[in-house]
Amino acid sequence: MLMFRSFVTLALAGAACAAGAQSPKAVLVAPDAYMVQGVSALGSPANRNFISNAAFVVTRAGVVVVDTLGSPALAQELLAEIRRITPAPVRYVIVTHYHADHVYGLQAFKAAGATIIAQRDGQLYLNSETAALRLQASREELAPAIDANTHLVAADRWIDAPTTISLGGVDFLLQPAGPAHTPEDLVVWVPQHKLLIAGDLVFRGRVPFVGQADSGRWIAALDKLLSFDAQVIVPGHGPVSSSARADLELTRDYLAYLRQTMGEAARNMDPFEEAYARTDWSRFDKLPLFAMANRINAYNTYLLMEQAGR
Ligand SMILES: [Zn+2]
Repeated sequence: MLMFRSFVTLALAGAACAAGAQSPKAVLVAPDAYMVQGVSALGSPANRNFISNAAFVVTRAGVVVVDTLGSPALAQELLAEIRRITPAPVRYVIVTHYHADHVYGLQAFKAAGATIIAQRDGQLYLNSETAALRLQASREELAPAIDANTHLVAADRWIDAPTTISLGGVDFLLQPAGPAHTPEDLVVWVPQHKLLIAGDLVFRGRVPFVGQADSGRWIAALDKLLSFDAQVIVPGHGPVSSSARADLELTRDYLAYLRQTMGEAARNMDPFEEAYARTDWSRFDKLPLFAMANRINAYNTYLLMEQAGR
């Protein structure tokens, strides 16, 4: 327990530095496990779309990487960070979900010879018009970090059930957890280190973007994650968590609060604006990105609850 404490303290100190910098810096979060932390912002040319986290675990038989950051150049820098720590090859890359800020770096790892694994529903995104339009828009909005050479990469192996990968004496349980944030949500549980790499099912230190997600199913997924006895969580965004349970609960409670308040408004047929204005947001309004995300989250939830009520 003491060991874990000191690892996490170290990681928190490192993560605080990484948040101010624009380059991925690996910090230790558990024995042989590292993360790089993106900045808490929307993607921009200045931050090169370095707005999400990635993690990797070093074993004696190679490295397992989870997520590959928001541009090919960032992924190259992540590879360089890995090489600084170990000469071992990257054997597997696990995709927590196919959102741009987590997968635009995949091509760098594919070129380095890694086997890419994702949940099968990621194919829905890859084959969608949304994905093509998003990439096209990113080539303009995020140039030169994203350019004509940036492309989407399919997994080498698609899974549809819980799958354990063993490498160099370390087990990785790949647990499908969608549809929640996305249909293809996949979390990685490393029991030896009580480490959970949770993708965007857990947002730490910021308000989540709910988007079109079904928050009811998301809450169910968080309850599933609470059944792992995690000591350390690497979230998709924000700093590492050594208060795993509290952070899972915060995300769950935020979603539940949206559903409760907006559900009540929808049932009473109160106009959204009025309901939004009178809702007490004081438990969440100090969190980063609250101003950017909360209103649209509430509105999407209002529509969702209105539909559910019909
Ligand atoms: Zn994300």
